[in-house]
Amino acid sequence: MALAGVVFVALLFLRAPYGRHAGRAPGPTLPARWGWVLMELPSPVAMAVTFATGRHGGSAVGWALLLPWLAHYAHRTLVQPFRWRGTPTPVPALIVGSGAFFNVINGYTNGRWSFHLGPERGASWLADPRFLVGMLLFIVGEGVNLHADEVLRGLRAPGETGYKIPQGGLYRWVSCPNYLGETVAWWGYALAAWSLPALAFAAWTTANLVPRALAHHRWYRARFPEYPAERRAIAPGLL
Ligand code: NDP
Repeated sequence: MALAGVVFVALLFLRAPYGRHAGRAPGPTLPARWGWVLMELPSPVAMAVTFATGRHGGSAVGWALLLPWLAHYAHRTLVQPFRWRGTPTPVPALIVGSGAFFNVINGYTNGRWSFHLGPERGASWLADPRFLVGMLLFIVGEGVNLHADEVLRGLRAPGETGYKIPQGGLYRWVSCPNYLGETVAWWGYALAAWSLPALAFAAWTTANLVPRALAHHRWYRARFPEYPAERRAIAPGLL
């Protein structure tokens, strides 16, 4: 969590070199689709293994924390990369390696705590306001993220490259509703799981995505003179 603060400040000045900010990234690159699979897959695998081997993995609360995680990563790992149109910018091996490293630790710490080391919670936790509000935020955040990524997908015709101004939905107010939805979803999950590893994940997501949204926003404004002036980066009306 302390590193999340360092990463947040660092990313305000440096941009993670992938996608439109890839520039001349150091080292080799991988095709974007397979790069994403390699980078994201460790997270659901670590979660599933800790669930299967944990002392109280099979409890009702265990299932309730496992399934949203797996649903999110099934889409992010196995569906989304293969639905991108055109030729996405190759992803540096450095990003894939550091992302996979993070995902091993993140999947392991979350699963190990929720399914083994942490307190075993009875089914009454599923009616606790923290769980209910957290899951509601997770679902709303996921919905916003999926819709926003779908809008981006529609911007390129098959085989097309380059960037356009996204329109519709929350793009009316922010440049990166996909990052907004992702951030809200993981803060919701942290509330529902009520654990330090889940809180750390939410902090890491924020530390990564807020600076990247600011960088995307600056990039759009520099690239498109007609870019909507009222649009913010990630928080409607604020940031
Ligand atoms: P981006 O918004 O940068 O790009 C998503 C896809 O849309 C890419 O294929 C990109 O192409 C394309 N695209 C983006 N903008 C445009 C545009 N204006 N015109 C045409 N095509 C466009 O998202 P990321 O790649 O950073 O992230 C993908 C998903 O992963 C998001 O849902 C995000 O929330 C999530 N994520 C989560 C993180 C976490 O810490 N939990 C960290 C990073 C991402 P190209 O690649 O060529 O730019």
